[in-house]
Amino acid sequence: MEPSCVFYSCYLIRSLNPDYPNRVYVGSTPDPIKRLRQHNGEITQGAKKTTPYRPWEMVMLVYGFPSNLCALAFENAWQHPLESRHLKRSKCYANKDNAFGMSSKQHANLLLSKMRAVHDVLSTKPFSRWPLNIHFITPAFKCLFEAEGQGMAGILLPHHIKTTLGPLTNLPLKKFQLDKKDDPVYHNFCSMADKVPCYMCKLDVEKKNTQAFVGCLDCKMVTHLRCLASHLLLMDSDSDNELVPVKGKCPKCDTDMLWGDLIQALKKRSTWALEEQ
Ligand SMILES: [Zn+2]
Ligand SMILES: [Zn+2]
Repeated sequence: MEPSCVFYSCYLIRSLNPDYPNRVYVGSTPDPIKRLRQHNGEITQGAKKTTPYRPWEMVMLVYGFPSNLCALAFENAWQHPLESRHLKRSKCYANKDNAFGMSSKQHANLLLSKMRAVHDVLSTKPFSRWPLNIHFITPAFKCLFEAEGQGMAGILLPHHIKTTLGPLTNLPLKKFQLDKKDDPVYHNFCSMADKVPCYMCKLDVEKKNTQAFVGCLDCKMVTHLRCLASHLLLMDSDSDNELVPVKGKCPKCDTDMLWGDLIQALKKRSTWALEEQ
């Protein structure tokens, strides 16, 4: 089984070295605080490519990826927006950059370009369907992102993507950790009987089959993964031809549900079940 419930993030850092204004770097990491310290040489094993441009500051992070591979795919699309097949607006950038007398490649490395690029990646499938969050460290960069991202072509971010602001220590790392003690998912799982009827189809859900069901933390109803996915897709008018839902309401208690949270909980239960064998 792949490692689960780790905090995966893609980040953008900016050089504070006066010799390299506008130098930026996009990377991915499960531990942004440690990673920034590595870029700045405070701890060893920093990225060699970024050493000459120290010191660096964190500009923004995107997190909530369903897996490490998803984070890498996102990082790649963010790093190479001009080559990515996902991006329809890259041509528009190339024309604008030419107007400034810059090659597309040169312009692609500037802070503004990286902000526009991430806005595009976030609003393009498949990334626009993922349960992602954006975090900024300073208000100025948040404003810049909001102005630049929407300004270009009036493309809005998907509604489910939330933007937050604050120091790196504000990130909800706990939500992605495997600590059982205070985890409501774990307590619900423990109190569940070995077999319960699926709220949707009424057939049995087996507790030992941890990959096959999801539950509501509020009303504790349990359904097959597939039953709830079909229900949420049916209820979501934006999801024509999609296979995986983004969000919806609990069919029993009407609480808002994010598909990413449900899958996160499923992965946690699977890991606990393995540990307890
Ligand atoms: Zn069912
Ligand atoms: Zn519910």
